[in-house]
Amino acid sequence: MLFNIENTFTQELPGDSELENTRRQVDEACYSFVYPTKTQSPKIVHYSKEVAEILGLSESDCQSPQFLKIFSGNEIIENAKPYAMCYGGHQFGHWAGQLGDGRAINLAEVKSNGKRWALQLKGAGLTPYSRSADGLAVLRSSIREHLCSEAMFHLGVPTTRSLSLSLTGTKVLRDVLYNGNPEYEKGAVVCRVSPSFIRFGSFEIFASKRDNVTLKKLADYTLKHFYPELEQATKTGYIELFKAVSERTLEMVIQWQRVGFVHGVMNTDNMSILGLTIDYGPYGWLEGYDKEWTPNTTDIQHKRYQFGKQGDIALWNLLKLANALYPLVEEAEPLEGIIRDFKIKYSVRYVQMMKSKLGLEMEDENDFNMINQLEQNLQLTETDMTIFFRGLANLSKKYVLPEKDDLSFLDSVKNAFYKIEEVKGEILRFWKDWVVQYVKRLQKEALSDIERKQKMNLVNPKYVLRNYMAQIAIEAADNNDYNVIDELYCVLKSPYDEQIDQEKWFAKRPEWARTKVGCSMLSCSS
Ligand code: AMP
Ligand code: MG
Repeated sequence: MLFNIENTFTQELPGDSELENTRRQVDEACYSFVYPTKTQSPKIVHYSKEVAEILGLSESDCQSPQFLKIFSGNEIIENAKPYAMCYGGHQFGHWAGQLGDGRAINLAEVKSNGKRWALQLKGAGLTPYSRSADGLAVLRSSIREHLCSEAMFHLGVPTTRSLSLSLTGTKVLRDVLYNGNPEYEKGAVVCRVSPSFIRFGSFEIFASKRDNVTLKKLADYTLKHFYPELEQATKTGYIELFKAVSERTLEMVIQWQRVGFVHGVMNTDNMSILGLTIDYGPYGWLEGYDKEWTPNTTDIQHKRYQFGKQGDIALWNLLKLANALYPLVEEAEPLEGIIRDFKIKYSVRYVQMMKSKLGLEMEDENDFNMINQLEQNLQLTETDMTIFFRGLANLSKKYVLPEKDDLSFLDSVKNAFYKIEEVKGEILRFWKDWVVQYVKRLQKEALSDIERKQKMNLVNPKYVLRNYMAQIAIEAADNNDYNVIDELYCVLKSPYDEQIDQEKWFAKRPEWARTKVGCSMLSCSS
């Protein structure tokens, strides 16, 4: 297996001179060299053929003993010098100081088909940034990260990718709910793949130490490699960089809202400078549409990272990035202007995105209200977001509501309701009003029903990684059955296609999953 190594990050940026793998504060350096910890009896559980292909790896490469060794952290790619990245971050609204790759180790940057990719193991042992933790990851969260990265990619959401999922053969102690009941779980390693793993927090750490020299080096490096179209290494360039990151971040969050994804831990150390979804932890998918929902039990009190606030939080995080870049710009106004634009653009993009979910293309001044009304209706009774929007494409613009007071006008979306019998009285009236309004609105559109349905089905996925689906894969894997992982991986490769033999995954959350740990309740323990 040959890799074309091109280590720009470690070659162009300052590194930590200390080479011992001891936990410490690291200054004036973007990374520390560190080797993954060897494991007892590693085993590849799954790999993504698509990501392998991007990296120029054949099927036989992926089945080779060397693949297993490299991507479980037991062998170093020839001539590579693995490293952990230094960054800080604001966690749950508070500056947390140095964080860094506490359990992530970059193996190398490799070039394939004209593109450069950083390969990063997560869960491969201690690094100088491990603080008080063990540097390891458990199978449960590694399955979730591996499957979700790929599912998000196929949904068209900007994301880091995942090449492989392996078992380490060692057990890891975790207290899933932080309630004093730790248990041993299977340890695992995921190999994540991204053009870069630089985060907002990578800049914040240097700004917090007033280390403008390293800050500038990192900003220049980021511009050079990831934003070459922008002005380089000047004040204007840094402002343009901030604008570009704002735009990419905005688009990422809009796509999250489109598919019903809740990140769960939008700390600034989990915000990619490339606008990619990164660090899949206690994320979740909306089942019942609920703007206030968060899967993260660690955040249950304040619900800082709830679904409906992800845009606001992205903006808050961007403000922190602006503060970090300020020493390079020394002018607040241009950065503030970009922050102000974000608010306006976000509302505009949000309405556009929601209109695309509704199959609406023309301008209509009432659309904003109609979208609002729909969002309110969806929360009146528990209503599955994915099934609702997918079903809505079947409503005809010629539909005439019957005189009689039954629920037949909801036929196209009725499967989305957890308890359709709750749609009565005022709630029924609200829905009727909305459907009447929507059908009328559809009639203004030039698209035929069939054309609209085709378009809507490219925007409203049929299959997402519902929380309980990942949990089924996890429970099977705990019992040494890794087939469900591949089954889900395959379904989620074509999330917009009708897959007749996979209808079972186009279903509301089963009752057993409602309050189950791992489904509706997740913590940062991983
Ligand atoms: P997260 O919010 O999960 O992305 O993690 C926040 C910080 O904690 C990052 O710096 C991680 O590298 C670190 N971290 C999380 N879990 C572990 C672990 N088991 N061992 C070492 N560091 C960890
Ligand atoms: Mg993180």
